[in-house]
Amino acid sequence: PWSFFEMAPLDPIIGLNEQFQKDDYPSKVIVGVGAYRDEKGKPFVLPSVRKAEKILAEGGLDMEYAGIAGEPRFVDLALEFAYGEDSAALKEGRIQGVQALSGTGGLRVFGEMMKKHGSTTLYLPNPSWGNHKNIFTNSGLEVKNYRYYDADNSSLDFEGMVHDIKSMPAGSIVLLHACAHNPTGMDPTLEQWKELSSVIKEQDLVTFFDCAYQGFASGDASKDAAAIRMFVEDGHLISMVQSFSKNFGLYGQRVGALSVVGRDAEEAKKVVSQMKTVIRPMYSNPPRHGARLVTTILEDPQLTAEFREECKGMADRINTMRGALKDSLESAGSTRDWSHITDQIGMFAYSGLSNEQVLEMRAKHHVYCTGDGRISMAGVTSDNVDYIANAIHDVAK
Ligand code: PMP
Repeated sequence: PWSFFEMAPLDPIIGLNEQFQKDDYPSKVIVGVGAYRDEKGKPFVLPSVRKAEKILAEGGLDMEYAGIAGEPRFVDLALEFAYGEDSAALKEGRIQGVQALSGTGGLRVFGEMMKKHGSTTLYLPNPSWGNHKNIFTNSGLEVKNYRYYDADNSSLDFEGMVHDIKSMPAGSIVLLHACAHNPTGMDPTLEQWKELSSVIKEQDLVTFFDCAYQGFASGDASKDAAAIRMFVEDGHLISMVQSFSKNFGLYGQRVGALSVVGRDAEEAKKVVSQMKTVIRPMYSNPPRHGARLVTTILEDPQLTAEFREECKGMADRINTMRGALKDSLESAGSTRDWSHITDQIGMFAYSGLSNEQVLEMRAKHHVYCTGDGRISMAGVTSDNVDYIANAIHDVAK
């Protein structure tokens, strides 16, 4: 039955790792996948997560199935983490959710559910995270773009964005990156979010927030939730997917949540019941360990405080590396304006390198970033920053 199967192309982001592994050049560097590395370039487990692991190991927990919606306590804490403990909508029970297979799984469950309930079109920012388009196309939705980034000026094309949102038909879904936009590192300002909130309300759109970097934009997880909280306060009945991959460093544990704000608790519960009808035939129920780790941390004020500090530490190291990369480019002799590297926020630098330059940098210098010129700043360290800067300068001259 398999003879007509062709080899599928490598995934443009994850596939880079495979290519990198095969390269035996000694000073090769990968700044592709968005995963935090410590100052030595090594994967980093947050000390608060290590402590939670120990608590769990000593707790003698059972390994029974979670429910279809996952760990209820985890979901409650995840929602408080994003919407805020003081959220009126949360207190009124109008926000309900399910545990998700990290951000990706939540996005897919949302897409499937919306398709089942008559949605046809979802709008993504241009550009957006590379996997978004495939997730929603595979869910059966038509994926379109709205203007987001002005590549010529390395800035947010806010006017274009508002213009495009105003032309979306009522009932369309608009996906917004809650903070630290991937890949551009450019977010609307608070005033601009306010304007977006009123424009979206006039258009009667379904607002869907993708919150994958809460804590990575400003270093303060509560501050990074400002746009979400503003929209809920403004009365938007949003839906949101949260990922705990980056902020808690739980990449491989697949921890996330998908939530919805309803007119009342009854309405929100109905939507959650529909999420469960998508989940049950897809993967039945989510894994428990990662959700238990997050629960253990967020239930304990001391561990939560430690987590917040550690998350800030990651964001701070990345910011230091932004400055170092810009300085190194200048020291290497580059006369181009690299100020966007330090203006951008979150995990990535959207360098402005063309696909051709990216491929040249890979072939000549063995520096691997994604084809769109996105550099994961989390992979930049004091040891490799000059090497990366020289490589960029060489191909960008
Ligand atoms: N959304 C965005 C914007 C992302 O950048 C990512 C991760 N790169 C995800 C969702 C999903 O990540 P995960 O499935 O690990 O939560």
